[in-house]
Amino acid sequence: MYSLVIIGAGPAGISLAVEARAAGVPKEKILILEKAEAHSWVIRSLYPDKKLVTANYKGQKGVCHGVMCMPDMDKADTLNLLDNAIKNTGVEVHYQEEVSKIASFHENGKNRFEIETSKGLYESENVAIAIGIFGRPRKPSYKIPKDLRKRVHFDVTSFDTRDEHILVVGGGDTASENVQFLHEVGHQVELSYRGKDFHRMNPINKQSILLLETQGEVTLLRETNIEKVTVSDEGKPVVHFKEIEPRTYDRIVYSLGGTTPQNFLKVIGITFTEDSPDIDEYGETGIKGLFLCGDLSLGKKGGSIVSAFNASRRTIEALCARYLHCAVPVHKIDLEPWMEVKK
Ligand SMILES: Cc1cc2nc3c(=O)[nH]c(=O)nc-3n(C[C@H](O)[C@H](O)[C@H](O)COP(=O)(O)OP(=O)(O)OC[C@H]3O[C@@H](n4cnc5c(N)ncnc54)[C@H](O)[C@@H]3O)c2cc1C
Repeated sequence: MYSLVIIGAGPAGISLAVEARAAGVPKEKILILEKAEAHSWVIRSLYPDKKLVTANYKGQKGVCHGVMCMPDMDKADTLNLLDNAIKNTGVEVHYQEEVSKIASFHENGKNRFEIETSKGLYESENVAIAIGIFGRPRKPSYKIPKDLRKRVHFDVTSFDTRDEHILVVGGGDTASENVQFLHEVGHQVELSYRGKDFHRMNPINKQSILLLETQGEVTLLRETNIEKVTVSDEGKPVVHFKEIEPRTYDRIVYSLGGTTPQNFLKVIGITFTEDSPDIDEYGETGIKGLFLCGDLSLGKKGGSIVSAFNASRRTIEALCARYLHCAVPVHKIDLEPWMEVKK
């Protein structure tokens, strides 16, 4: 029986393992289950290679409350930081093992959990679900014609073309970064955003696209709403806006964020109020000993890597006080051990 099974080896799952180890939970009492072939799959697969990973993503303060922290840095160093962190815990990680079901049962008056994966069954006293929200990117409300499947994307890493006319849809940091990346690799880029002043972007991302606009390098279609997308005679997406004439593109990249995997959580018995799972300030659900961590616990405004690190700190505080009787270190452990970036 494990003390803690962590589902998902992203920034939240990794930092929770780090926090648990720092609080004295033995490494053999913790297990991490990750469905991808490597940890931090969202960073690995969705971030463009040259991206600057910002600590104040989505305007969140890059202030850390727990053991793990990060400054602004590139994608490779971010992955190295997380790689060192997960290795330093000594905790066993099972890769390519997707969790399909979690059931709770009572033993000696306490909640216990049975976790079913693609490869086996595990029992644990506590479970933290840290599977993020990017397994299900947010889709537009209108239908995308099937014929456009190869020309409509939810990330910029799944195609490797040049010199195309591409529409990015969205108004947050990811939308801005996708515009910058696609422009940099040689595309003609337009951005469609419902709002006027890009208030959801951090100052760097906002300034960067405004500068590109001033230089005539990208086109920002402010206050535009897309009604539908159809297929041109050449098989390209034709975007019909409410406010301006239809435009034909080579590709569309939707940058609308992710969505909570509601069905997965509801089947486990987690209740929701409107679209948000019911959790307390430490991420604990109504099922005692079952926690949501990272992006999953951060509500509609979404999360960031640092906010995932901080969420893990709150979760370990509750785990230690309520169930594991461990001791969360009072002083922040020096950043250095986690910053040793092995090249
Ligand atoms: C394009 C893009 C750019 C971003 N840029 C930044 C940035 O610059 N700075 C920043 O701070 N944040 C950025 N973010 C946000 C940041 O990546 C997330 O907030 C962060 O990754 C959340 O961490 P998490 O551990 O909660 O979830 P995730 O990183 O989503 O990790 C979840 C993990 O769980 C695994 N998993 C999913 N389902 C299962 C299952 N059933 N069983 C087992 N494992 C499962 C996944 O494979 C994944 O490895 C960006 C996001 C995107 C998409």
